[in-house]
Amino acid sequence: MAEIYLLALCAQSMIAPVLFLVGRPVLGWLNLACLAGYVVALVLHRRLFVATALAVKLGAFLVFVIVGAVVTANQASLIYFLLFAEVEMMLADLRRRTKIIATGCLVTFSLGVLHLPPLPGAPRQASGIDMFLAELGLGLVFTMLCIVILRMLAITDYHEHRYRRDAMHDSLTRVLNRRAIFERASLYWKTHREFALVLVDADRFKEINDNHGHSAGDAVLRHLATLLRETLRSDDSVGRVGGEEFLILLPGAGKRQGIEAATRMRNRLARNPCRLDSIELPVTLSMGIATADEALHLRELIELADRRLYAAKSAGRDQVVAEGHAGAATSRNSQRLAQGVERALETDRV
Ligand code: GH3
Ligand code: MG
Ligand code: MG
Repeated sequence: MAEIYLLALCAQSMIAPVLFLVGRPVLGWLNLACLAGYVVALVLHRRLFVATALAVKLGAFLVFVIVGAVVTANQASLIYFLLFAEVEMMLADLRRRTKIIATGCLVTFSLGVLHLPPLPGAPRQASGIDMFLAELGLGLVFTMLCIVILRMLAITDYHEHRYRRDAMHDSLTRVLNRRAIFERASLYWKTHREFALVLVDADRFKEINDNHGHSAGDAVLRHLATLLRETLRSDDSVGRVGGEEFLILLPGAGKRQGIEAATRMRNRLARNPCRLDSIELPVTLSMGIATADEALHLRELIELADRRLYAAKSAGRDQVVAEGHAGAATSRNSQRLAQGVERALETDRV
């Protein structure tokens, strides 16, 4: 939007010398005063006083074009400038209601301009019918502009929302992606929030791919993600951090609540196995749980949860490990995960 202010400044500064050259010094000086108004508006806009900046700019612009219409005895030209003001106002960062009210004011003002008696030196006034047609056309043009721009802004908002959502979610399972879940974990960590972290891995998932095909594997991943999401509370979050690996954050939860949540997920999966074309695709889950008070850094906490997950796998899979392994050696997978946290958050130390 600041670009529009700069554009207006450039365009109007080119007109100033022309006005002096063609013998309209009053308009020339007024144009320069108007430019000063634009500079003030630009400064206000940069300081985020958006509505005031726009009022200053449009106010200066309107004074200039109204005096211009009187001096040149051409009031019809005023309406073109008002249309420009309408577009600018509609694109500004104002509330929809303010825009509709301001559009009403501009239409009323433009209709008033149409009804002004001819200025000295202007051609004769139009007939009643011509006047009616002019009013109708003007009303329609303002209404169309208002609708088109509001629609355009709504479409832009919709796409922006979609892009933002897609950038945060995994396209296959629709849960948070790796970066988004690590960012959330980092936020909890930095704000010293108590939370439990559950690392979930599907057991012998490769066999599902090998026996039933990759698309069956995808269906299982989608089923697992839905099931995990449905089992959790509304402020818990789940993200996909690897092929068949999920990270769950349970804010406000301690070890006991973490184990309860993990048990609920495993029970629910046992009751609702994934089915594809009436064939059951059996899958179980192994989980490692750690709580925020068990580590000094988020990286260590994730490594601890991963060592516990590894312990659950080594003990025969389909189980939850939430204790021990605090000082055990770090596995390659947990290093990969912890590096993922740092990469996801770029150089931010967590
Ligand atoms: P474990 O019980 O030890 O975890 O065994 P696993 O078979 O689950 O683990 P492994 O790491 O050996 O295999 C994971 C498999 O997940 C291999 C890979 O092809 C598959 N995979 C990763 N991402 C996707 C995906 O997006 N879709 C499908 N269908 N498969 C995936
Ligand atoms: Mg696995
Ligand atoms: Mg795995």
